Amino acid sequence: MSKMRFFALQELSTRKPLKVVAPSNKLSDYYGSHVFDRKKMQEYLPKEAYKAVIEANEKGTPINREMADLIANGMKSWAKSLNVTHYTHWFQPLTDGTAEKHDGFIEFGEDGEVIERFSGKLLIQQEPDASSFPNGGIRNTFEARGYTAWDVSSPAFVVDTTLCIPTIFISYTGEALDYKTPLLKALGAVDKAATEVCQLFDKNITRVYTNLGWEQEYFLVDSSLYNARPDLCLTGRTLMGHSSAKDQQLEDHYFGSIPPRVTAFMKELEIECHKLGIPAKTRHNEVAPNQFELAPAFENCNLANDHNQLVMDLMKRIARKHHFNVLLHEKPYNGVNGSGKHNNWSLCTDTGINLFTPGKNPKGNMLFLTFLVNALMMVYKNQDLLRASIMSAGNSHRLGANEAPPAILSCFLGRELSATLDEIVRQVGNDKMTPEEKTTLKLGIGRIPEILLDTTDRNRTSPFAFTGNRFEFRAAGSSSNCAAAMIAINAAMANQLNEFRASVEKLMEDGVGKDEAIFRTLKETIIASEPIRFEGDGYSEEWKQEAARRGLTNICHVPQALMHYVDNQSKAVLIGERIFNEMELNCRLEVELEKYTMKVQIESRVLGDLAINHIVPIAVAYQNRLLENLRGLKEVFSAEEYEQMSVDRKDLIREISRRVTAIKILVREMTEARKVANRKENYKEKAFDYEEKVRPYLDSIRDHIDHLEMEVDDEIWPLPKYRELLFTK
Ligand code: ADP
Ligand code: MG
Repeated sequence: MSKMRFFALQELSTRKPLKVVAPSNKLSDYYGSHVFDRKKMQEYLPKEAYKAVIEANEKGTPINREMADLIANGMKSWAKSLNVTHYTHWFQPLTDGTAEKHDGFIEFGEDGEVIERFSGKLLIQQEPDASSFPNGGIRNTFEARGYTAWDVSSPAFVVDTTLCIPTIFISYTGEALDYKTPLLKALGAVDKAATEVCQLFDKNITRVYTNLGWEQEYFLVDSSLYNARPDLCLTGRTLMGHSSAKDQQLEDHYFGSIPPRVTAFMKELEIECHKLGIPAKTRHNEVAPNQFELAPAFENCNLANDHNQLVMDLMKRIARKHHFNVLLHEKPYNGVNGSGKHNNWSLCTDTGINLFTPGKNPKGNMLFLTFLVNALMMVYKNQDLLRASIMSAGNSHRLGANEAPPAILSCFLGRELSATLDEIVRQVGNDKMTPEEKTTLKLGIGRIPEILLDTTDRNRTSPFAFTGNRFEFRAAGSSSNCAAAMIAINAAMANQLNEFRASVEKLMEDGVGKDEAIFRTLKETIIASEPIRFEGDGYSEEWKQEAARRGLTNICHVPQALMHYVDNQSKAVLIGERIFNEMELNCRLEVELEKYTMKVQIESRVLGDLAINHIVPIAVAYQNRLLENLRGLKEVFSAEEYEQMSVDRKDLIREISRRVTAIKILVREMTEARKVANRKENYKEKAFDYEEKVRPYLDSIRDHIDHLEMEVDDEIWPLPKYRELLFTK
């Protein structure tokens, strides 16, 4: 066996679960201990400084320099109580992770003595070099300087010995270079639009908040095996590997008992989450072997998203301690399920109403129906934008494959609720409604809560499913920043709600009563959005055909899907609702396409190297052993006996030879295709070339390697196999 694989397996056999001890038996003793939350602010800040933070949070009032100094000082005192020595602005550039640059509190006084200082200026704003982060065309057009600015709505926190301050990241001239800036804008837009619609029903509602509850799926793999797989290390997924004789076919992993080493990891992860005020709640095995899920309770969308970013980071660090590597890639292994990140999304009012929960009376239910129907229409009109928001090199392995959400967007409502919508269409006429008609309709609507209680059907194949009090967007990839999807959904919802309100108001101006104007607009919206409603199996072949008949789009081609970021509808939403300006949107597209190109480029290089340096030499060595064996047989046995014995061996040699040659040719062709693609000046053409001309080689080369894996002696196979990666704990 190759040394690498042998030592990896040997090391693995000595693994034991680490002992994990919580800081206290009572969770509430340490929950949020590392967050500068309101309670700690009150303790560490002078009254007026505390008030300034709260007002900035609730009303968007700017914080002046004097207050900032007071806040920074209080923050520093609190941080020092946790032995903090450094601080950083923590932000979310358009890469797959967060960025931070740690600076010590250290400064020198007039006499050269060391003092620990953290001023308001440093708290509020810093200037990292924007040109080192993905920024699309912005870097060409503007100065390289970028600013990070404190996001007052997300509290500062301490990781290890560093104080982290959540910030937005913008260019010198104010263009967004991160996920947080447009997310905050989208949340603001949906707040405004939804509040105005709510006011048609209830004047007491003055704000609408967005909630997000994410579910993070991931794989764990032992770190010595991981280190012996250069493809996992460099690309996050296995570029080769024959499927294991057993994988998920027995369906014995999902919700199964969690292995002790994994439990230890999860425990420590949860403790660290809780210290940071991340409400980690659910943990379980997922469908594939060595696949797991973590889900917290839902929170305000901006905070939930920060928490998800933080969790992905924590996972990686804590996994290492337990001799695991965490795989956040959407499809680390062929042939078993990939990982997603379900985004549970809901809207709720400052009066405490969840707008996706039916009310207790017909009026409440009207509000519910209005938001439900507008959400359907939002998905229908913005299928392409929603898909663009979750499309990536990694996620494309899930979409359209027969497991995770299809690349076709659709909404599942459940039979009963669907029937209620159809009922509204039937009952609301185009003429003025009689009082009796209104009463019947309202009575029908009054029944909704009972209906939902009865509804137990859950459709797991739907990419955008209504699940009783929220919508669950299941198409997002496990490694993605939730903000990308949340920007699209909330901006699109704002846009849809604005259109809805405009239609209602138009009817009212024409003399139609308010209730009736709402009913008629709802009816129109239900009819128009009907094609997006689908209750059946979203993975089935029939659905693909049916969806095509309905005119729904189905795009698996990554650059094509991404190009919809700049189609007319997406522009109407993203630019129209002032989430991006034209240039920012174009830059975003450029960044996404470039990211795609680079990922495929790296995969292609790694596969080429592994094929030529690892696989071909081993195959040839094995072939030589077979040849040696043939020569020996010939020497020892009679010509007749030799003929008989050598048939299958000769076949195998031919087979190996054929594959080795094919691999060499394909790798050469792939390298050529890459060169042609790399010469393309235009980033769009380059991405299209990578998708169409380079990427197909990844599969064809892999196919030969995976066959060789079954033909060559296991003893000398250089890379850990699927059965080892997936089944060892
Ligand atoms: P499942 O796997 O069945 O979808 P989970 O319990 O794993 O369910 O996850 C449900 C997720 O939905 C959790 O993150 C939870 O906080 C979130 N959630 C529940 N209610 C809401 C809501 N009203 N708005 C947003 N998210 C919600
Ligand atoms: Mg779910």
